[in-house]
Amino acid sequence: MKTDVLIIGGGPGGSAAAMFLLKAGINPIILEQEEFPRFHIGESMTGAAAGVLRQLGLEKEMTERKFPLKHGVKVYGAEGTNSWFIPVASRNKQWELVPGVTWQVRRSDFDAMMLEESKKRGAEIIRGRATKVLRADDGKVRGVVMQHPGGRTEEIEAEVVMDCSGMATFLANQRITGPKYIGGYDKQIAFFAHVTGGVRDTGTSGENAKDNTLILYQKKFHWSWFIPVDDEVVSIGVVVPRSRFVESKKTPHQFFLDYMPEICPELARRTRDIELVEKVHVIPNYSYQVQRFCGKGFICIGDAHRFIDPVFSFGLSVAMREAELAVPQVISYLQGERRDAENPFSDHMRFCEQGSDVLEDMVDLFWEQPFAFATFVHQRYRAEMTDVFSGRVYPSEHQPSNAILTFRKMLKRERDYGHEDNYSIPIGSRYQPERDSLWEPDPVVETTEDWLTASNLESQS
Ligand SMILES: Cc1cc2nc3c(=O)[nH]c(=O)nc-3n(C[C@H](O)[C@H](O)[C@H](O)COP(=O)(O)OP(=O)(O)OC[C@H]3O[C@@H](n4cnc5c(N)ncnc54)[C@H](O)[C@@H]3O)c2cc1C
Repeated sequence: MKTDVLIIGGGPGGSAAAMFLLKAGINPIILEQEEFPRFHIGESMTGAAAGVLRQLGLEKEMTERKFPLKHGVKVYGAEGTNSWFIPVASRNKQWELVPGVTWQVRRSDFDAMMLEESKKRGAEIIRGRATKVLRADDGKVRGVVMQHPGGRTEEIEAEVVMDCSGMATFLANQRITGPKYIGGYDKQIAFFAHVTGGVRDTGTSGENAKDNTLILYQKKFHWSWFIPVDDEVVSIGVVVPRSRFVESKKTPHQFFLDYMPEICPELARRTRDIELVEKVHVIPNYSYQVQRFCGKGFICIGDAHRFIDPVFSFGLSVAMREAELAVPQVISYLQGERRDAENPFSDHMRFCEQGSDVLEDMVDLFWEQPFAFATFVHQRYRAEMTDVFSGRVYPSEHQPSNAILTFRKMLKRERDYGHEDNYSIPIGSRYQPERDSLWEPDPVVETTEDWLTASNLESQS
């Protein structure tokens, strides 16, 4: 089989990439290993993510399907006090902030809608798993070997492979990219489920809107999310350092139920009468960064190359925006530009990396200095922080802003984009430049089952 563009993974990143390609007249193949709908975590969107959906003409569909409207994020500090609110807002042509809304999504419904829409618009969806990369003599990625559900294998040749495989990081695991570094938040573990009976706010807009995201933290690295996914059901997650869980000697199910009220009194109040309508899922080890994630014949998108920390819900935003940003690069490459370049997508790579660095610096400052962070959000950098929370993180969006530059100073961190080999250094990880040549990445646990087995724990996911 042959195609111009092969997309590995039919999650939101893959489907968004397909729809942008289709808009430009390219009919891609999406290779997806799972039958949709399937459960997935990542339910709260930024304003910028909603902007991508509007650009793809999906606003009407989102409204008709009644995805809950998010007006902003309310964060409850230690002990459930010091709450602060950041609204969703867009920027008009004069770069003035304009109030906005985005959506919360039950991922099984949203991802199925996105994949179905890609198919309706002309993408070919193939059920199966990419297992191996095909390379030309000069190293260029020229396609993959796939396995059909029945076990038969087949080659798919492509001018460009877009890796949208999420945390499976397909091309990185195949050693096509640069190394995959373990990130600063890899010792965390997240437990989550869908529940009924969660107590929401009751407003229709602004700070007390009923479908807003709530983030509640107890202390450094111990936090919880509360995200309404329909009129009845709320997604709740509890995230802690995994040592905290191992010490407890509890099953994931029991740990989730017992720890929720311990996060803070506010969460205890909101979850007193909940009932689980979905089993408790677990994700350990979720922080990593892949260097040189674009190259001859390939581009990695979203989680396929970097995941920082989900505390402020940026995953969907990054995946769909990177898809949008990559497509013009893919089109010009297909039209013959940069064909002989060592890395035809290096500008795109640097651009995306700068956006993710803004997020990393913000999240790191939040965990390192939460009180200073809350003050910046409230007072000194209110507009700049509204931009970041809304997903405006790229150089074309006035980033790094003065807020981010201040955070870098406070973190004693310099970012240098001057040289190809410098800019992607994973500062927020355990990477040590002086040890680089000796350093081998830790194996990131591939599946929750592997990790639970390794830890002698019962799998609940
Ligand atoms: C605890 C936690 C909480 C989170 N909360 C949020 C949140 O509130 N908001 C938010 O925006 N983000 C959140 N995220 C992040 C979010 O889940 C991801 O960023 C988002 O799903 C990325 O989309 P994607 O399309 O890149 O990958 P995915 O959605 O993971 O899709 C990848 C697809 O690729 C397929 N695939 C993988 N390997 C292969 C292969 N070899 N062959 C064929 N198909 C393959 C998979 O089956 C999958 O369908 C959270 C993440 C975690 C860990």
